[in-house]
Parts: sequence; C-alpha cells; structure tokens
Amino acid sequence: MNIYIDFDDCLCETARAFSDLAREMFGIDVPYEKMRYFNLQKTFGLTEEQFDQLMIKGHEPEALLAYDETPGASEVVNEWIRRGCSVSIITGRPYGTFEASRRWLDEHGFQRAEMYCLNKYGRENFLKNSGFSLEPEDYYRMKFDYAVEDSTEAFRFFSHLPDLRVMVFDRPWNRNCPLPGDRYRRCTDWESIRKAVSLD
Ligand SMILES: [Mg+2]
Repeated sequence: MNIYIDFDDCLCETARAFSDLAREMFGIDVPYEKMRYFNLQKTFGLTEEQFDQLMIKGHEPEALLAYDETPGASEVVNEWIRRGCSVSIITGRPYGTFEASRRWLDEHGFQRAEMYCLNKYGRENFLKNSGFSLEPEDYYRMKFDYAVEDSTEAFRFFSHLPDLRVMVFDRPWNRNCPLPGDRYRRCTDWESIRKAVSLD
C-alpha cells in the first residue's frame, strides 16, 4: 500500500498555532473552532502585508518545531510502515522549511516516512528564493491507495487516481464542504483513520 499524508493539520496542529500567532501579532482573536476558511488571510481578515508577516513568522524554524503532534498520528503511521506500507508526506510547505520540517518529523517518530514539498496552493512567494522539491510531473507519476488530507483545495491532486480512498481530516474549515464522492470519508481523528484503512 502507498499512502499519501498531508503534513499541516493532519500530522500536527498548525491552525491552532496560527490562531495563537494572529492574536499575538495583530490582536486578532479567532479561536481554532471558528477558523471557517482554509485561507488564513480570509480567516483572520488580514491585509496582504499582515498575511505575509504571519506566514513568514509561522514558517520560521522555531515556530515549525513547536507545533503539537495531532494525537495518535505517529502511532498509526508507524503501524502502517511496520505492516509494509510506503508512507509519503506530501506537504504544501515550501522547500525552505524542509530542514525544520524534517527535524520535526524525526523528533515526533516519523523517521521512516519520506517527505516531499509540492506546490499545492500556489502561495510560494512568502519565503524568498524557496521553491518546492517535488515537481508536479513527478508527483503525478506517484501512485497512492489512500490519502489523508484536510484541505479541499488539495483534492485536485487526487483526480488522476480513480481508486484512491481519501480520508478527510475533519477540521472547522472543511466541515461545511461537501465531499466529492463516496471515495472520500470524513475522519475526526487518527483512530478513525486507522479503522478506515484496510491493509489486507
Ligand atoms: Mg493540511
């Protein structure tokens, strides 16, 4: 089995950290449960400049290394790897964050999972001179049986895989979005993701 896993808000609690950051930096108080848009600029009502500042701050190594693991993530991922699955973490973070992101993964028990930076959201500009490590044509050659993703904007990266099963990590910003089909299943935590994946 080949499994795709998104990084932010699947393996770690990125949105909660950004909620704290927006409060600290701009005095804007939007608690996690009220984060109704995947777009953080819209969620917090930020100017372009504030949004850039927030993204830069939230992608500094100290910030990335401090993100909390989503409960149960490493346990389930390691169980899959032990049982012979290949796990690829496909993140929309720019490559400039690779070192800190890789370190976070290693420190949280994900040493055996590969990580790739793919430009999923077209917002590469906030880190200067930082590209992505995985070109779309290489990504589209990869085959996956299951995917774990929280962003409906990333679903377009699944359309070339008609048999893929997608576990949509339930988050406030995707809660009211209809899922594209019956291969998509909403999962509230890693225990339900574990149950949704059949390795046999
Ligand atoms: Mg995500």
